[in-house]
Amino acid sequence: MSNPFQNAMTQLARAFSVQSFSQTVIDQLMQPNRQIRVAIPVVMDDGSTRLFEGYRVQHNNWRGPYKGGIRYHEQTDIEEVKALAFWMTLKCAVVNIPMGGGKGGITVNPKLLSARELEALSRGWMRTMHDVVGPKKDVPAPDVNTTPQIMAWMADEYAKMTGDFSGAVITGKPIENGGSQGRGTATAQGGFYVFDALREKLGLPLVCRVAIQGFGNAGSHAAELWTRAGHVFVATSDSKGAIYCEAGIDPKKLEEHKKATGSVMNFEGSTNISQQDLLVCDCDLLIPAALENQLTKENVGQVKARAILELANGPTTPEADDSFFERNIPVIPDILANAGGVTVSTFEWEQNLKGEHWSEEDVFKRLKEIMAREAQNIFDSALARKTDLRRAAFIVALDRLETAFVNKK
Ligand code: NAD
Repeated sequence: MSNPFQNAMTQLARAFSVQSFSQTVIDQLMQPNRQIRVAIPVVMDDGSTRLFEGYRVQHNNWRGPYKGGIRYHEQTDIEEVKALAFWMTLKCAVVNIPMGGGKGGITVNPKLLSARELEALSRGWMRTMHDVVGPKKDVPAPDVNTTPQIMAWMADEYAKMTGDFSGAVITGKPIENGGSQGRGTATAQGGFYVFDALREKLGLPLVCRVAIQGFGNAGSHAAELWTRAGHVFVATSDSKGAIYCEAGIDPKKLEEHKKATGSVMNFEGSTNISQQDLLVCDCDLLIPAALENQLTKENVGQVKARAILELANGPTTPEADDSFFERNIPVIPDILANAGGVTVSTFEWEQNLKGEHWSEEDVFKRLKEIMAREAQNIFDSALARKTDLRRAAFIVALDRLETAFVNKK
């Protein structure tokens, strides 16, 4: 399995080869400002005490406080968190929000914990990190396997430790605890606005057959949004398996099925396929919405989709990127396609700091404006430089980061 941080550095070098930037800027972006590893003790239900490894990587804050989610996964390690923090720096610059890049995590399979153990672990992460995060320093958020409930526990723990009850230390909270309207669907919604702005330019049909890897937060909302807009949701997968249905899958019914059975598999009217088959199935648009390193040199040649939209972070390796570019299959990169999540997170932070609560209509209006504008900007930049959308997105971000750095000197 390729190392996600090395992949991220390859992406950086590739952008640098299209347009040069100050070497000082590039050197500093190749190293996170700070990497924190902690041991979190949790008293388990059987009375024993277990130690969990937790992380926070603060990559860069030239443009604002560090910002980025917290991931709970058994394969999460510091290298993965470093890569995710780096992409956050670039992503916040791509959508031009006043935030830097950070990311956190815990090496754990949360499905093996009871609700009480999960709460103790989440509060433990915040207890050990409370002096390095903060509304003006570093603002975490949800990521894989972390939920609004977990954000509420963490916000509460921070308030108890510091006396700051504004909630602005963490985003993705439940609405009742200072969360923003639209945060739950924001990642998928932002991806949809990008798709909508670029569909025709990328030569995609009016009605697309859409396959989505991962039916979690990002993936299930994407299924609903694309279906609502008249596209056909033909396939999806989760950690247990995958399904395909040429006539289209009803995302709401699939959601109920997943709740009842714990998986998307065996959904009525669909055929079970393998997780690998999902990536190469017959479709117009493939949306990876699970984990890194899914489209690789091993499977890229068999991908039938006409375009890829990365809701997941880092799902395409640099070798797969090359192959897609040669085959004229556009890849709408993660740092643009999934930036809706951090954008609405930043709206939440702003509302908490100002003591405001914006309507869903207002949130989505602001989000659409940003996503459509930056999608167009990156598309034009790729066209002008005869390069791919990823390099173009990096160049837009690096330009903004370099300016922020120079202005500070
Ligand atoms: P999630 O935990 O809600 O969902 C992940 C989904 O992927 C689950 O359905 C899981 O079963 C599935 N999955 C895991 N392993 C798989 C495999 N091998 N094959 C197929 N499916 C598999 O997480 P999420 O929040 O939806 O995040 C998904 C991706 O989107 C991540 O890369 C994350 O970093 C990225 N992302 C999320 C947000 C957000 O706001 N949630 C924002 C930006 C980017």
